[in-house]
Amino acid sequence: MKKFVGAHVKTAGGVQNAPLNAVEIGAKAFALFLKNQRRWFAKPYDNKAIGEFKKNLKESGILVKHVLPHDSYLINLGNPDKEKWEKALNAFIDEVTRASQLGLDKLNFHPGAHLNQISEEDCLKIIAEAMNITLEQTEGVTLVIETTAGQGSNVGYKFEHLRTLIDLVEDKSRVGVCIDTCHIFAGGYDLRDEKAYEKTMKEFNDVIGFNFLRGVHLNDAASELGSRVDRHAHIGEGNIGIEAFRMIMNDSRFDDIPLILETPKEERWPEEIKLLYSLIEK
Ligand SMILES: [Zn+2]
Ligand SMILES: [Zn+2]
Repeated sequence: MKKFVGAHVKTAGGVQNAPLNAVEIGAKAFALFLKNQRRWFAKPYDNKAIGEFKKNLKESGILVKHVLPHDSYLINLGNPDKEKWEKALNAFIDEVTRASQLGLDKLNFHPGAHLNQISEEDCLKIIAEAMNITLEQTEGVTLVIETTAGQGSNVGYKFEHLRTLIDLVEDKSRVGVCIDTCHIFAGGYDLRDEKAYEKTMKEFNDVIGFNFLRGVHLNDAASELGSRVDRHAHIGEGNIGIEAFRMIMNDSRFDDIPLILETPKEERWPEEIKLLYSLIEK
């Protein structure tokens, strides 16, 4: 098996439950929040939770490289307000530290938003600065920048934005990217037929490079191409359509990385995971 499909699972009761929830839905990969994503502070993990997470992950048969933790939505590393930027940076370092404590090797994050106070270019510079400080103060965790829909004042809706961040990060061995299919579609990258798909993937490879790809969020889009509106839909039920997902499932450039569903209704994930595997042509 070369494709590792899963979903962003719940951590109710503690992070140690995430691998169990992944197994429950038939996932071969998963994403999780490392703390309550709506709060700034959380108490540190105790040794019991860390031990149980590692044990449950081992028993799940899911490999560390197929786990893609996601940071809190509160964190904006592009915040033009110095004090708020520092608060975000500290919270980000805490998230990377948590990933590392669980024995994980990645942290997926949305680059940030300029809040209409600074240019996109200046926003990217302070995000890269935060990434460099984080990399200096932590070990073993790759920072995985997600492509965004560009909703509001978010940067990251153009492949060039991610390229700029990679260029500004000093330790390139610990930077990667995550393609979110809904987000890139909302950002104007078409995937609906073979020609459009190949054009988008070529552009991704030319600007960023598949060597930086560490994960994918598999979401159809309830929003329109180029709308810069972030609305996820179930696979095959949105404006992207099933063909794009068939192409991804049969594209070796997406082998051996976490392919994560973030579609609206979690009760549909077991069926959706099966659907995605059924698209693989033998
Ligand atoms: Zn996503
Ligand atoms: Zn989204």
